[in-house]
Amino acid sequence: MSAINSVGKCFFCNAEFKKAGITRHLNTHLVKESKGRNNGTSFHIRIEDDPRSGGLFFLNLWVDGDSLMSDIDDFLRKIWLECCGHLSAFINPKEKKRYSMFDIDEMQSDAEEIMDSATKGMLIKGMKLTHEYDFGSTTTLLLTVSEQFPVAVPGGIILLSRNEPLEIMCEVCKSASATTICTTCYDPNTFCKKCAKQHAKTCEDFADYSAMPVVNSPRMGICGYDGGTIDKKRDGIFVKK
Ligand SMILES: [Zn+2]
Ligand SMILES: [Zn+2]
Ligand SMILES: [Zn+2]
Ligand SMILES: [Zn+2]
Repeated sequence: MSAINSVGKCFFCNAEFKKAGITRHLNTHLVKESKGRNNGTSFHIRIEDDPRSGGLFFLNLWVDGDSLMSDIDDFLRKIWLECCGHLSAFINPKEKKRYSMFDIDEMQSDAEEIMDSATKGMLIKGMKLTHEYDFGSTTTLLLTVSEQFPVAVPGGIILLSRNEPLEIMCEVCKSASATTICTTCYDPNTFCKKCAKQHAKTCEDFADYSAMPVVNSPRMGICGYDGGTIDKKRDGIFVKK
């Protein structure tokens, strides 16, 4: 998927930017938004999937300093992650402790302590964090605190941008957007509606359990994940403009 373009739209002006440029662009808006105001603390956070799983998905969040880390966790679950209520945790790689198998309780209480903390007590500009959802089939996300601003965020968290649905095409006909993936096949494993019908004839798993919808999330095709519950209009398949 490395040749695929990843672009997102700006919350403020609706212009489209490449993944590499949108964070800086959003910061120019946020600087203007916070000029001459001083009514709180907030953070601009960039969130990406692990480069090992493609690194094409991204979110830009504007998060109030009084929001809890668990509010970010909750947001990530709603937009990208939640399938069957797995455990999750934030990890600061710099402070990553080594827990032995006898320290499960300590590990859990450390993770809970971070979740219950306000972001303004945890985050500083430039900080990098990891978020892990599901300690079995783990989805790993990388968080970078891009900027800090002296203003409150109405509502706690605002989605400033996310990648538009990636150009994932049917690997059989190569002409239509993929709507379904087969999680037990390797190549081809992305299918348009028509080619999925054909695949069902040769792949027994497909009819039973291995057909999963193409959705706009790094958890696509993993466990029972079949899409988010917020911002659903950008959670669909690729549509050519
Ligand atoms: Zn803009
Ligand atoms: Zn699950
Ligand atoms: Zn096709
Ligand atoms: Zn298959």
